[in-house]
Amino acid sequence: MSVTAQSVWNNCLNFIKDNIQPQAYKTWFEPIIAVKLQDNALSIQVPSKFFYEWLEEHYVKVLKVSLTKELGETAKLVYIIKMENTYGNKQPFTERIPSSNRTSVKAQDVDIPFDNKSRELKNPFVIPGIRNVKIESQLNPNYSFENFLEGDSNRLARSAGLAVAAKPGGTSFNPLLIFGGVGLGKTHLAHAIGVDIKDKYPEKTVLYISAEKFTQQYIDSVKKNNRNDFIHFYQIIDVLIIDDVQFLSGKSGTQDVFFHIFNHLHQNGKQVILTSDKAPVDMQDIEQRLLSRFKWGLSAELQHPDFETRVSILKNKLYRDGVEMPDDIIEYVAKNIKTNVRELEGAIISLIAQSSFNKKEITIDLAKQIVEKFVKNTKREVSIDYIQKVVSDYFQMDVDTLQSKTRKRHIVQARQLAMFFAKKMTKASLASIGSQIGKRDHATVLHACKTVNNLSSTDKQFRKYVEDITKKLSV
Ligand code: ADP
Ligand code: MG
Repeated sequence: MSVTAQSVWNNCLNFIKDNIQPQAYKTWFEPIIAVKLQDNALSIQVPSKFFYEWLEEHYVKVLKVSLTKELGETAKLVYIIKMENTYGNKQPFTERIPSSNRTSVKAQDVDIPFDNKSRELKNPFVIPGIRNVKIESQLNPNYSFENFLEGDSNRLARSAGLAVAAKPGGTSFNPLLIFGGVGLGKTHLAHAIGVDIKDKYPEKTVLYISAEKFTQQYIDSVKKNNRNDFIHFYQIIDVLIIDDVQFLSGKSGTQDVFFHIFNHLHQNGKQVILTSDKAPVDMQDIEQRLLSRFKWGLSAELQHPDFETRVSILKNKLYRDGVEMPDDIIEYVAKNIKTNVRELEGAIISLIAQSSFNKKEITIDLAKQIVEKFVKNTKREVSIDYIQKVVSDYFQMDVDTLQSKTRKRHIVQARQLAMFFAKKMTKASLASIGSQIGKRDHATVLHACKTVNNLSSTDKQFRKYVEDITKKLSV
């Protein structure tokens, strides 16, 4: 029996089918066409660039395993992007194809060797101390200013970002702290500043790192006894971007080392850019001296985008993906998903997937179904502040009373309930919960959780409290 592109691909599909969700299989694998098999490379045709990126992001492993099973270790996969003719004359589509390729049916080969290394973030922790060492910036070029749509909700932060990018270290916005809720664009904007600086000042060393990774590196350095190398490495950076600094809360060792790095950079006119999910005044368990540094420069908030901005974000996204969608559908999505740009994008991606790959027409009904799923499926993140507010409201007291030192029974109970829900609904440690709810210690929080568990199995009234508050917290 001869081995053909089709037979190899069929075997791959059988394997893939067994290993992923049926819906995903239908959406992402059924539309693929096996085109040719040459030099142990299988070419498959996919309907769009977006489609190819999605496969690469979510299914590269299963593709690799299945193909290696068929063709051995030297197997290669080549994607051919063939777009529908209907998109052919649209601006966004023609843009990404070199003009020489502009024929009526467009195909583009993307050769992807199975080499995950290139997409893995390199450890920025390269041999410190050597000058002119090239440090990978860890920036995502897609997170550019161009793609960061302006609106009232982000105007201040965005223009401050542009100012910093034009003169890193040379404005009074140092540090620049960008803060705001989840999915509002903090990470995107922080990258955009870095990308722009790299573009304007290629010789500058820019480094993007999450506070979490920074912490891990620090811990590793202590273990390996090279804390000084760690510090030194960070001190040679020209533009340091640390994402989600709230992660440092309660981690005094990391805060301490960051304090020294910060001072060194700041004194030497280097730029520091930080993001956080809250304003400095609301940050918990961050040392005072560090907090006061955060406030030296500018704190700029990203707020919820208004309707117009949401519409333009969606339109821009569709344009970049080369997809057309009727205005009323875009507006429907924008009207119904309000508080989180990531969800907004997620909903539109599902819509694109449903429509272009299942060959379903995009209708308001389809949009409704998808938006509904989205709004339901995404759990809102609850903060400890929010929990305290809900519990205090429920018992008709204010948050100060809930946190107070009093031993009055109903207040103690309210406080214990707040602690219980904070443990249940957030990732915060017992110690951090305690310190945020009236400056108690971790043992008090642990005791509170046990008490609430006991009482809710023995006391009917108390169980009702728990049920009511659960409801309030989940809407
Ligand atoms: P955060 O870090 O605040 O949680 P992200 O920066 O990860 O949020 O943003 C979530 C998603 O929303 C990203 O895909 C980002 O590109 C997009 N996004 C947020 N704000 C904007 C904007 N103003 N214009 C375009 N895309 C945006
Ligand atoms: Mg982020």
